[in-house]
Amino acid sequence: MPGFEIFGAEEKEQVLEVLESGVLFRYEFAAQRKGIWKVREFEQAFAAYTGAAHAQAVTSGTAALKVALAALGVGAGDEVITQGFTFVATWEAILDCGAIPVFTEVDLTLNMDPADLEKKISPRTKAIVPVHMMGAQARIEQIKAIADRHHIPVIEDTAQAAGGRLHGRHLGSFGAIGTFSFDAVKTMTTGEGGMCITSDEKLWQRMSEYQDHGHDHVPNPGGRGGEGRPFIGFNYRMMEIQGAIGLAQLAKLDGIVAAQKKNKAFFQEAVSVLPGVQFREILDEAGDSATFLTFLLPDAARTTAVNQVLREAGVGAVRWSENGWHYYPKWEHLLEGKTYCEGGWPFSAGGKRRVVYDPQALPASAAIMERALTYQVPILLPEAQKMNIASALNQAARV
Ligand SMILES: *Cc1c(COP(=O)(O)O)cnc(C)c1O
Repeated sequence: MPGFEIFGAEEKEQVLEVLESGVLFRYEFAAQRKGIWKVREFEQAFAAYTGAAHAQAVTSGTAALKVALAALGVGAGDEVITQGFTFVATWEAILDCGAIPVFTEVDLTLNMDPADLEKKISPRTKAIVPVHMMGAQARIEQIKAIADRHHIPVIEDTAQAAGGRLHGRHLGSFGAIGTFSFDAVKTMTTGEGGMCITSDEKLWQRMSEYQDHGHDHVPNPGGRGGEGRPFIGFNYRMMEIQGAIGLAQLAKLDGIVAAQKKNKAFFQEAVSVLPGVQFREILDEAGDSATFLTFLLPDAARTTAVNQVLREAGVGAVRWSENGWHYYPKWEHLLEGKTYCEGGWPFSAGGKRRVVYDPQALPASAAIMERALTYQVPILLPEAQKMNIASALNQAARV
């Protein structure tokens, strides 16, 4: 992680093709574009890569979640269950649909705890959004089985796990829809961008129409503007330059994952010197996209002490429990219902609070997160950097 580490001639060549065609837009301009349809080609390549029947490109991973929720008909009054350790985008998209996010605990996979999911399903649950955080699998088979039993669709937030698999099957392809992000820090990047995959043609059609202002995408002899308007949409259209970069990055994705696996093995061995260390549970090592290595120490005090030594050596680990963007008790704007709307929407409606979030609502997650430290695994890892990390960890092992 991330793909920007290895930008090269391939991306440049792809972008130049678009610039030379003069058509930056994914729809129309058939006469001028000389047969170049980069976004469409990227969608087809991404679907083929993940084994999904269809892919819909959009402007970001957040937009991908929004488009997926919209295609499933999620709206005001509905509840959507996700996990309390994720990036804020997951629940921003839910709130943006007017729905209420409900948070589950995470377990040692650092992803959704299926037992807690079962407890949080209510008659209002309209979708379940597990997240494959930090490149590795949520218990998606179990989650899908629970969701199926309750007839609730699953959207897999696969923003952080492009290239990841579980028992050979691509993450994002288990649920009704899988969403991906290609932002600046993701495993493959298009600058900004996102993708939805599905094998349900109807859902694909709805996603395709929703992200294009609700233009109906049935064959239409009237040309652009002459279409029907099946429902109100929005504009999340990806542009051709992004599609072009996506094609070049996608071709590198398996190579990126392979390089990360080697570097993750280095981190794992180096971290093993810490007394009492335990690793995050990975359901299928072969399918881990290896963007991060997460380890847990016996208690919070020891975790603080070890990371202090690592920080002083200039190789501090990420402690997500201290991070304002990825961990439920740190989302004070959510907990306090801070919004730009005077009426308090989406936290309040009609002068009444719709939902109140308790910062202590996820004690099992807190007990795990306060002991967890994470190294982001780069694609390129120079020997000198490895030596610094190994030496700092040896020093930390003695505190
Ligand atoms: C990055 C990310 C997103 C959102 O992606 P953007 O492209 O930045 O909008 C959504 N979910 C998770 C888990 C992410 O890490």
